[in-house]
Amino acid sequence: MPKIAVLPGDGIGQEIIPQAVRVLKAVLAEADADFEFQDYPVGGAAIELVGKALPEETLQGCREADAVLLGAVGGHQWDHLPASERPETAALLGLRKGLNFYANIRPVRMIPSLLATSTLKEDVLDGVDMVVIRELTGGVYFGEKGRSENPRSAYDKMTYSEEEIRRILVQGFETAMLRSKKLCSVDKANVLETSRLWREIANELAKEYPDVELTHMYVDNAAMQLVRNPKQFDVIVTENMFGDILTDLASMLGGSIGMLSSASLSGTQGMYEPAHGSAPDIAGKNLANPLATILSAALMLRYSFGMEAEALRIEKAVEKVLEQGYRTGDLAQAGDKVVGTIEMGDAILAAL
Ligand code: NAD
Repeated sequence: MPKIAVLPGDGIGQEIIPQAVRVLKAVLAEADADFEFQDYPVGGAAIELVGKALPEETLQGCREADAVLLGAVGGHQWDHLPASERPETAALLGLRKGLNFYANIRPVRMIPSLLATSTLKEDVLDGVDMVVIRELTGGVYFGEKGRSENPRSAYDKMTYSEEEIRRILVQGFETAMLRSKKLCSVDKANVLETSRLWREIANELAKEYPDVELTHMYVDNAAMQLVRNPKQFDVIVTENMFGDILTDLASMLGGSIGMLSSASLSGTQGMYEPAHGSAPDIAGKNLANPLATILSAALMLRYSFGMEAEALRIEKAVEKVLEQGYRTGDLAQAGDKVVGTIEMGDAILAAL
């Protein structure tokens, strides 16, 4: 029986995860699919329970699971801890590295009924529908780093192996094959050697995917184009640091942070989580928007279990509920039906 490890974590993670689990269970029941759900502590909640942000039992449970559903981690109570013990580093990076989730996938789609909530012009955003794929376990964030004194200097080394580049580009080509067969590889090949190797391998792989139209773009231009004319993109693939920056930029093309889902993959095994944090300012008040987490659950069905029809059912239910005017506080404008976290979950279940 397929296994899902459920890690609510901290803050609003405790509120949004139960809604996503309700939705998943409803869709799976209708598909006659038997799945096992097992909860594990992570983040600050795990520090309070067993003294570690990523307990061995949690890591092991995730290793044995087919997919991980994660809420969010972190909170002011644990901010004083050294970086290696903090929920965000110990738990998040520990899970990514420990399970080798090297590909981060973020769909960015403007839902028509949310057009008015964005800070960008409606005609620029109307029809935006893309996927940004970011390499997640290599590059400068994981390279050797150091400092010296007198005079003070610091360095961070950026290294990419052929294997690291090839597997993330393959993810890009494969994703493009499932969509409109357009892949834009983003690099800085005019300056960086790692980017020149990246581009070389992308061009080699393109011969194996003759149906995919591959283009290259420098990262600085990509940032500008994402705001100027985002509709030109379908699938973007890029390295770790460029992806970190571009995914946050692209998040504004989808309305609110409360709408952004993500998948971190290693083959079909994956970790699915909203792009936002634990939002301590609104935690425990039934105010959090659960839709990013519910949409992450849809990604789980698509990428880990190949259940495309069920994933689409969830995505359509989210769209329908928004069309009906239901909004959590982060999305609300005058005249909307403002609902809480639980009521939004109820509305999605009704729409299914
Ligand atoms: P945040 O994303 O938690 O919150 C930023 C703002 O957006 C807040 O005003 C919050 O209320 C709002 N917001 C976020 N998600 C929302 C939702 N679903 N519905 C409605 N409003 C929402 O970022 P932050 O405040 O910088 O960080 C808070 C904590 O979360 C910190 O401890 C941080 O380190 C951690 N964090 C964790 C993750 C993660 O677990 N993946 C990611 C980012 C930040």
